[in-house]
Amino acid sequence: MKRTLFEDVHEDFRASFHTFLEREVLGEEGRYGEWERNGIVPREVFALAGRGGFLGMAVPERYGGAGTEDFRFNLVVAEECQRAAVGSFGLGLSVHTDICLPYFLRYCSDEQRERWLPGIASGELITALAMTEPGVGSDLASMSTRARREGDHYIVDGTKTFITNGINADLVVVAVKTGEGGHENRHRDISLVVIERGMEGFERGRKLEKIGQHSQDTAELSFSELHVPVENLLGQEGEGFRHLVSNLPQERLSIAAAAVAAAEAALGWTLDYVRERQAFGQPIGSFQNSRFTLAEIHGEVQIARTFVDQCTLALNASELTPEDAATAKWWCTDLQGRVVDRCLQLFGGYGYMLEYPIARAYADARVTRIYGGTNEIMKEIVGRSMGL
Ligand SMILES: Cc1cc2nc3c(=O)[nH]c(=O)nc-3n(C[C@H](O)[C@H](O)[C@H](O)COP(=O)(O)OP(=O)(O)OC[C@H]3O[C@@H](n4cnc5c(N)ncnc54)[C@H](O)[C@@H]3O)c2cc1C
Repeated sequence: MKRTLFEDVHEDFRASFHTFLEREVLGEEGRYGEWERNGIVPREVFALAGRGGFLGMAVPERYGGAGTEDFRFNLVVAEECQRAAVGSFGLGLSVHTDICLPYFLRYCSDEQRERWLPGIASGELITALAMTEPGVGSDLASMSTRARREGDHYIVDGTKTFITNGINADLVVVAVKTGEGGHENRHRDISLVVIERGMEGFERGRKLEKIGQHSQDTAELSFSELHVPVENLLGQEGEGFRHLVSNLPQERLSIAAAAVAAAEAALGWTLDYVRERQAFGQPIGSFQNSRFTLAEIHGEVQIARTFVDQCTLALNASELTPEDAATAKWWCTDLQGRVVDRCLQLFGGYGYMLEYPIARAYADARVTRIYGGTNEIMKEIVGRSMGL
């Protein structure tokens, strides 16, 4: 089906991002493989991406960005990364641009904008978002990281875990409890503060070892009697939950878009493989089972992509609802899981070998049904919106 989402400017952006991936990420020396083994992407990659104009699309021009809040550019990044068998979340770039940047764009004061936006656009300041704690993920309002006000500082104590870009991050948007729990609405106790590299009392734990997405640095962060100046409060005190909720649709769309792109990439690799690989004197793609499987995947991917494209336009028009974003997230990540599994099967034993992108895509896919809010929580959001 002809896709009408993109304009020439997006295709030009696609071509230059593709060149960036080939030159700086894949490289002849197989750099990406080395980052996967190291469990982290070098910080310079963010600076190179910033120099190429791939991080600051939505940042106003006066702070070094392109001044275009158009999520189609983010979609291009996700698609090109997946096609190159490099997860956009694995690189940490999508967390920086799709998930963290909107908090800085929406809630920074003028002074904070001057302080942080130029570095975020250039990639010199890497960002992370820390909500999850060892004891609390889905039930965010039950978090225990506290920030008590003392003069012109918040004193922060607590631990966050599973934080993407946790080791590399210079600026971490941290959800903390500032209230005493006296509110009728417990969500009103939550605020967002920006914790910066080098602040005394900010410790990073080890990089966590995961099933997939190996190049993504995922870490535990701990805060002990950490003095955060009140100038680092992001948005309004007590409004943190509301700020999180209003940004989550974009985060979920970003995950959905990467999931569809991953499924489409898996389909492409599998088509190439089944045309070449022979069994019983014929290409395995010519067996009816292979044809049916790939026809089903082709259809499902197109349908999912159409929904994601519509959600992207809705986001650009500030009309993406939490329910539609939640639907995109659960449906597309479920699809990704089904597709990579079925594609892997068609590779036979080679599908289980890590040198084949399909094997890595299989391992990388599992978490997308978990992070960004589990798919069960997505269905809760949709179900509640139906009055259930
Ligand atoms: C690789 C990776 C990267 C991540 N990056 C980040 C990050 O950058 N920042 C960040 O803050 N977090 C991050 N996370 C955390 C992620 O968002 C959480 O793991 C996720 O929200 C689930 O929380 P949990 O792990 O505490 O699971 P739990 O909340 O303990 O859930 C366990 C199970 O119970 C189910 N469940 C819970 N509540 C309900 C309910 N009401 N109804 C039905 N079922 C329910 C869940 O669906 C799940 O199946 C990351 C996680 C991973 C694995």
